[in-house]
Amino acid sequence: MPELPEVEIAARHLRAALVDRGPICMLVPEPGQNGLLDAFAAGTPGALLSVRRHGKQLALDFEDGGTFRLHLGMTGRFEALNRGDEWPRHARFIWACEGEPRLAFVDPRRFARFGHRRGGHPSDDFAGLGPDALDSTLDEWCLALDRPLPVKPALLEQSRLAGVGNIYACEGLHGAGVDPRRPAHSLSRDTVEFLRLAVQRAMRATLEREADAPMRYLNEGGVPNPFRIYGREGEACAACGAAIERFKQAGRSTWWCPACQGGWTGHPE
Ligand SMILES: [Zn+2]
Repeated sequence: MPELPEVEIAARHLRAALVDRGPICMLVPEPGQNGLLDAFAAGTPGALLSVRRHGKQLALDFEDGGTFRLHLGMTGRFEALNRGDEWPRHARFIWACEGEPRLAFVDPRRFARFGHRRGGHPSDDFAGLGPDALDSTLDEWCLALDRPLPVKPALLEQSRLAGVGNIYACEGLHGAGVDPRRPAHSLSRDTVEFLRLAVQRAMRATLEREADAPMRYLNEGGVPNPFRIYGREGEACAACGAAIERFKQAGRSTWWCPACQGGWTGHPE
């Protein structure tokens, strides 16, 4: 499932393949499935001027003043196309420029969401989202986490902090040595800073590792787990050697090391 780093990589691929390449057109392999895609494909948006990302959302600004919005959903990703390639299975649409198909948006489970804006303001594209998790300050994190609920589910609320999903919440809490059950508002400012840096470090590690590779998701099978704690129940913690455990929090699995991250006694720091 895409999290912030995968969406950032998608944004970079889109910029490299399509920005400033002249008029862009959208091809829809199966017309009649999505009215918005059909309408966009029938239009003439002109050149792609910029690709913006905030949290897990993308906004593509075109020469005609329109903006195409995209959320990758559960399985959405872009695949590069070369001249003469067959269109991949499960392609929802294909971006073409200079007379050639360039990038296919492939979405086997069809959970991706699309939108289109004409008029209004660029900030409308990300309305309702908190500050971007990778590009946000300590003050913004302190504000986002000033809540009585446990810190793990608090990190996942996109309206407070945009882009942290289950993987980077687990990785960041482990990296910062924070008990996922602790009320978010009980964390000291210093601990919030450790957490912010740990989440951002884990995201940057994925960006560096995956930047040049075709996009893959852990749940596709056959993909080695690159994470320190996520998905490693029963394995030894890389930091201390204790057994990693898993429990459910707000309906989602939390992986954690009770030795590194335990010790919360119910009292604020
Ligand atoms: Zn440990």
